[in-house]
Amino acid sequence: MAQPTLVKPGTKVKLADYDPDYHGSLSKRDPEVAQRLEAAATSMYKLQQRLYAESEQALLIVLQAMDTGGKDGTIRHVMSGLNPQGCHVASFKVPTTQELAHDFLWRVHRQTPRKGQIAVFNRSHYEDVLVVRVHKLVPKKVWRRRYRQINEFERLLTETGTRILKFFLYISKDEQKERLEARLRDPSKHWKFSVADLKERKLWDQYMEAYEDALTNCNTEAAPWHIIPANRKWYRNMVVAETIEATLRDMDPQWPETDVDLSDIVVE
Ligand code: ADP
Repeated sequence: MAQPTLVKPGTKVKLADYDPDYHGSLSKRDPEVAQRLEAAATSMYKLQQRLYAESEQALLIVLQAMDTGGKDGTIRHVMSGLNPQGCHVASFKVPTTQELAHDFLWRVHRQTPRKGQIAVFNRSHYEDVLVVRVHKLVPKKVWRRRYRQINEFERLLTETGTRILKFFLYISKDEQKERLEARLRDPSKHWKFSVADLKERKLWDQYMEAYEDALTNCNTEAAPWHIIPANRKWYRNMVVAETIEATLRDMDPQWPETDVDLSDIVVE
């Protein structure tokens, strides 16, 4: 049976119900895969042009994953098919002193896309109920109420013209081991290796619990989550690209009307 990626609002998420290795009946070299990737990219590019010209709506793409989960690769793949003028990537790292002196959504709100634009969040406000919870950086009563605050924030965005797509790139613990080992083996990947990732790996189960709660509590009709089987990079890229394309199609941006009659204009 096909594994749906969209999590229905109201579902209590159990990650054990999802297979990070899922890839349907397809394989990497199937011509269908190349065709679907190409079709999604071509259509996405055209729709983005209309979104940009229309300048009435925006698209926010949130990417969350465990270390090595493929956020960077997904961004490279998705963005390569877009016009850079109409999109930007915001990466959320450990907050600065200035950021910590504000509410947790302050730095996030500033990076949301303006009308006509697509913004991709490499990590996001969800870190404030994930790493912050796992490492007990704030008391439980503080991170608990963030679920409601996030839902209200996302509702504000959707009610004011921003569509939100949230992707959890789901890899297995074994796949993470292989990817970390690959980084150790390959000198061109050494820069990506961080000893801190090994410490986080030890907290895998706590992270999965925190993810399950975030995916359950912040999964609204306005801003639902997609759980993407991400052990196979080609499958992950295809599903993410197709989901973005379908969303842009549903947003149905229109070429704007001009307020002057162009039919009489002659360019001399
Ligand atoms: P990435 O792993 O995304 O490629 P880095 O290696 O620089 O980039 O990691 C960014 C780090 O910042 C991650 O460990 C992440 O958990 C952390 N981080 C992001 N947001 C927060 C936050 N709100 N509070 C604490 N840590 C955060």
